[in-house]
Order: sequence, then C-alpha cells, then structure tokens
Amino acid sequence: MKNHISNAQFERAQQVMPGGVNSPVRSFRSLNAQPIFAEQARGVVLTDVDHNEYIDFCLSWGVHLLGHGHPQVLQQVHNALELGTSFGMPTVLETQLAEKLVQAVPSFEMVRLVSSGTEAVMSAIRLARGATGRNTIIKFDGCYHGHADHLLVAAGSGVAQLANSASLGVPESFAKHTVSIPFNDEALVRKVFEAQGHDVAAVIVEPVPANMGVVPPREGFLAFLRQITREFGALLIFDEVITGFRPALGGAQQFLNVQPDLTTLGKIIGGGFPVGAYGGRKDLMEYVAPLGGVYQAGTLSGNPIAVTAGIQTLDLLSVPGFYGNLNQKAANFVKELECIVSDYPVTMNTFGPMFTLFFKNEKPENYAQVQACKLELFQEFYLKMLGRGVYFSPSQFEANFISAAHTDSHLQKTLEVVETTLKTLSF
Ligand code: PMP
Repeated sequence: MKNHISNAQFERAQQVMPGGVNSPVRSFRSLNAQPIFAEQARGVVLTDVDHNEYIDFCLSWGVHLLGHGHPQVLQQVHNALELGTSFGMPTVLETQLAEKLVQAVPSFEMVRLVSSGTEAVMSAIRLARGATGRNTIIKFDGCYHGHADHLLVAAGSGVAQLANSASLGVPESFAKHTVSIPFNDEALVRKVFEAQGHDVAAVIVEPVPANMGVVPPREGFLAFLRQITREFGALLIFDEVITGFRPALGGAQQFLNVQPDLTTLGKIIGGGFPVGAYGGRKDLMEYVAPLGGVYQAGTLSGNPIAVTAGIQTLDLLSVPGFYGNLNQKAANFVKELECIVSDYPVTMNTFGPMFTLFFKNEKPENYAQVQACKLELFQEFYLKMLGRGVYFSPSQFEANFISAAHTDSHLQKTLEVVETTLKTLSF
C-alpha cells in the first residue's frame, strides 16, 4: 500500500486543522497510524490520493446504504443545483421528505429537519425537557448521541450517581443533569427511576447501539424502557441516526417493534449530504417553535440539495424487496464471517446489515465488556486489512456497514482477506 501522498497531505493538514482533521476519529490516532486521504468513491470502491483502492465498509460512517454516488441520486442533485442551492424559505421538497419520513417511521406524526445528527439529538432533548418540565436525561455508557454538552458525559462511579463531563468545556453543572449507566441492565434503570424518576425528562438510547461496536439489546430490554418511561411520565427517545432506514424503512423501532415518543435520524436520510431530523407524536412536536415554546432553528435546515438527495435515496430504499435482499445478503456474509473468526479469540455482533468483530472471546453486552477487547490486536488486524484493500471502520468501537452496492465478489474477497489476515495475527 502506497501512502506517500496521504502522509504528505496529513503533514500539511496538521498545520491548519487540529490533528489534521475535522472529526477526531478520522485521524487514525487510536490506531497509532496516519490516516488515508480519500480521493473518490463509487459504489463500495474507495480510492485514496495514492491510488490505492479499498472495499469500503465504513461508507462515511454508515451514510451510504446505496453505496457511494448512486447515479439516480447524483442526477437529481445535479438537477436541483440548477434551481438554487439555498433559499431560506419553505420548499415543496421539504414537505415531500417530511411526508416520506412520517410514512416510514412508525412513531412519527411530525418531523423537523436539521443539518446533523448532533443537532437532531440536541433538539430532541430540549423538546423532551420542554414538554415534561423536567431536567434529567438517562443515557447508556457507550452510546454516542453527538457532541452536545449534556450528552458528552462519562459514567459516574455509582449507580444513581451523576455523570462527569467527558470533555473539557462542559461545565459539571450541565453534566449533572445526565445519568449514564450500563446498557442492558434493567435493574439499574429501575433503581435510577426509583431514586429520581420525578425529574427524568427522557431516556435516550440507540435501540441497537453501534457506537461501542454493535451491541444488540437483550430480549425485552427496549420494551422494558418503553414501559418504565411511561410508568414515571418520562419520554423515550430512540437515537436512530445509525439504525434509521438501516434494517428496514422504519428503522430499528419497526424491526424490533417498540415505539418511542421521539426519534432522531441522520446519515442515510441525507443521501450523502448534511441532514438530521427529529420527530414523534404530534402533541410533542407541537411544542416546537413557531407552534410552541421550544426554540430551534437553522439557516440551512431543509437545504434543497440535501433534501433532494434524501428524497431520491428514500425512493430507492422503498423499492419492494430492497431490505429483504440487503438483509439476506448481510446474513449470508456474516454467517461465513462468523465461521472464519470462530477459530480465533474473536467474536462478532450483528444487526441487519451492520456488524462488529470484537477481539475477545464472548459477545459483549455492554460497554465495559467491549472495553475488555484486545485493542492492540484490533489495531494489527485493522491495519493489515487496510493494507490488503479492505476499509473497515477504523475503531474497535464502531460498526461496519453492508450496503446495496456490495456484490458477492466484494464480499467473497473480504472473507478471504479476513481469513488471511487472522492467520498472521499474534494472538
Ligand atoms: N447519534 C448517533 C447514534 C450517532 O452515531 C451519531 C454520529 N455517528 C450522532 C448521533 C451524531 O451525528 P452527527 O455526527 O451527524 O452530528
């Protein structure tokens, strides 16, 4: 693998951008390596500036369920560009995308478009607090919900203990309204509710966490969250920025049949452009300005180019059989992958078309168990895979994504590369 140009460009980038990047995990710091610089991508083949080619399983962190640069999406975007790139006034396109979202997502009656997943989550939390008149948010260790202040918190040391901020610049007085506890632990959730349920505005959860690697909920865990939030008058927020439109049009909530009060979306629904959305029951969404007192706005919200890409993407996902084919292809692939890794101290978790290989013996069920992975082995595996032309998500704590554009030959080649690579690792 050549990396002469990437390395030189990284050197240059570091002079003018912190760590040379605009989002930390891109820097490959946790891999003790230098990042590759992307030049172009089509389908699932990504080419870097040194002209190495990779089969892409990161897909811009889960954005490209159709693969990069789907021709129909590109065509519609080209057409939209001619009409205008931003109006700052209502467009029919926004209503069209909103209608598609309301139709697809089981718990949506109304939706508001924003420009990123972070913004969607930040706004949904404000709405939950505004609608309930309460302050406390319960989240789960290892779930990531964007970089808004009150969600950048690390687990406290005790059960119902308040969290510590996980970033400089987040006042403890903000972090104290967030409780972070281990995922999949019903007893702990109940304990927190019993201690301070009167002030819990919402429980926020990735219904199938992908930000500690893929860690599926235990049977009944989401239904339990649904029930206990109702019991204590709190709201349930599903952060489906990753799982939305991933295993089914209606996301994880449709797939697992649990309906939250509010849902956040991002990634796939922007067709490769910056978009987020939050939505839910009408009586809740009516708290949002201009109807209600929860303020939230955005110059580029509902941007016509992003919305056009989103509409075209959702149309392609709505073709009958799309998810059946995708999930079947993914199931066949992960079955073979699981067979290969079973010879090693490596395990995997999957959900629909996403999967994570964990460098440990048992399938993790929470963040503490993911943290017990052998990170130095992951690092060695990762860089060797990259050197052999397979671009997985560059962290043990992330998911890999199978898209409609992965062909049998891409998947077969990937299995071969995994097999060859595992043989060379120093377990
Ligand atoms: N929620 C989840 C579940 C995410 O995975 C992410 C980003 N990976 C976000 C929120 C934040 O989205 P964005 O990066 O678009 O701000």
